[in-house]
Formats: sequence, structure tokens, C-alpha cells
Amino acid sequence: RAKARGGDRSALFDEAMRAEATRLLDLEADLRRAIMNDAFEPHFQPIVRLSDGEVMGHEALLRWNHELRGPLAPADFIGVGEDSGLIEQVDWLLYRHVVRWLRTSPHGYVSINVSPRHFHSDDFAERLLRMIEEAGADPGRLRIELTEVALLDDAPRVLRMLNILRERGVLALLDDFGTGFSALSYLHRFPIQSLKIDQSFVAGLDGETRTESLALVRAILALAGTLGIETIGEGVETERQRDVLLQLGCQYGQGFLYGHPRPAS
Ligand code: C2E
Ligand code: MG
Ligand code: MG
Ligand code: MG
Repeated sequence: RAKARGGDRSALFDEAMRAEATRLLDLEADLRRAIMNDAFEPHFQPIVRLSDGEVMGHEALLRWNHELRGPLAPADFIGVGEDSGLIEQVDWLLYRHVVRWLRTSPHGYVSINVSPRHFHSDDFAERLLRMIEEAGADPGRLRIELTEVALLDDAPRVLRMLNILRERGVLALLDDFGTGFSALSYLHRFPIQSLKIDQSFVAGLDGETRTESLALVRAILALAGTLGIETIGEGVETERQRDVLLQLGCQYGQGFLYGHPRPAS
């Protein structure tokens, strides 16, 4: 009987696997169609100076206007996009919207999220600079957000690209800092303008893990201070979190306390 039950269970398991595989294939086909129709749109979320709430710039966040399911956030499709490589095409479509918006917007800088995959292609920096130029936008107002994974991938190549971009005024921010490898030895070797402290630490500042989060955020801020790197707290939702960040010496913040991601209009 135990064997029979095991058999049933594995049949159920096979069924679930098949359903999941079909779902992913459908999603990938959908994504290809969406690329042909350019069904993507950046939403913008303000990044502010914590001391007075002044808006310094915005992060551009990818949204897919799905024909049946409505607007989708990256969590719904980024895995498929990364695995299939389609995320690169999606990003380029999105970046074009962003640089066009940048030309007409008076609101400080805009940062775009760059998948680690882009650093595998040698011409990423040149291609981005060409796109900015063609849109008639100011490269000094565009920033790129990359993760620690990208730094570890192929350090010499990434360094070369970041330097090309920086020479033209495109500064680099390190996203989700503290969640990756946080290989400190790497940090000072790359031209990094700002560290974005991951939202899990900011959330912890007024939760049960308050003491640990405080210690971690304090350590990150000390490190950044020593290296002359600016800091941005991500996911600031409460005044309490803002106050603690300010006290600890964090300069900038981003989160629902200041504004949700919204369409350009
Ligand atoms: P991220 O770059 O760390 O972006 C911050 C995420 O936190 C965004 O989620 C944003 O909506 C969310 N967020 C902002 N403030 C708060 C807050 O106060 N509380 C909470 N709980 N969440 C907050 P979103 O837009 O769903 O993006 C998720 C991730 O998808 C991004 O994380 C980024 O890694 C990736 N992503 C977004 N846009 C792009 C893109 O254009 N290209 C690529 N390759 N990846 C992107
Ligand atoms: Mg980001
Ligand atoms: Mg982030
Ligand atoms: Mg994140």
C-alpha cells in the first residue's frame, strides 16, 4: 500500500512538473510577443535626500503591460527573462523609453537596472552611450544600478565598461548591497558612486531583528564612508526607519514613505 501511495504521489508530482513547464513555456512565448510589440514601460520612483526630502532623481522600474493580465512587475517574469536571455532585449526597449523621458524631464537623474548578462557583451557601454546620444539626452543624468554578482563575473571587463561610462558622466550604483557576496576587496577597485542598502536591512530597523539590522547598517555606512561612497537606503516605509537611517549617517532614501513607482505621466 505504501508503494501504491508513493506511486500516486509521484504521478501527482509529474503532473505538477508538467504544468509548471507548460506555464514557463507560455510565459516565454508571451514575452517574445511582448518584445515585438514593445509592451514595456518604465515606472519611476523618487530617490530623496533624507535630511529634507528633496528629490535627487528616480529609479526606472520595469513594468510589462500584459494584454490579458494587466501590468506585471519583474518578479512575475524576470526569472524566465534571465533564463531565456530575453531580459537583454526587454532592457534595451525599456532604456530607450527612459532616455527619451530623460530628455524632457526636469527631475534630476534617472537610474536604470542593468542585468548582469549585459556585462557579458563587450559593447554594452558603447551601445548605451549611443542610445543616450541618439535621444539627445544628457549622459550625466543617467545612472546604472548593478548588483554584486555583476562585479564578480568578469572583473576586468566590468571595470573597463564602468570606466568608459563614468568618463562620459554615467555613474554606477551598487544595488541590493549586503545580500550578495559583499566581497569588500572588490568594492574599492570599481568606480562606484553609491551603495543601495538592501530593503531587508531597512525593514529590520523597526522589526524584531532591530539590533542585528542596526549593526549591519552601521557597518555598511562605516565602510561606505571610509571609501567615500554615497549611501541610499532602499524600501523606506516608515518615519522611524528614516530617522534611524539619518541618525546613522545615511544620506539618501527610496521607498513607499516618499512615493510608489508610478508611470511617467
Ligand atoms: P530593485 O532594483 O532593488 O528595485 C527595488 C524594488 O523595491 C522595486 O520592486 C520597488 O517597487 C520596490 N520598492 C520600492 N520601495 C519599496 C518599499 O518601500 N517597500 C517595499 N516592500 N518595496 C519597495 P520592483 O519594481 O518589483 O522590481 C523588483 C526588481 O526587479 C528590482 O529590484 C530589480 O532587481 C529588477 N528590475 C526592475 N526593473 C528592471 C529593469 O528595467 N531591468 C532589469 N534587468 N531588472 C529590473
Ligand atoms: Mg534597482
Ligand atoms: Mg535594490
Ligand atoms: Mg531589490
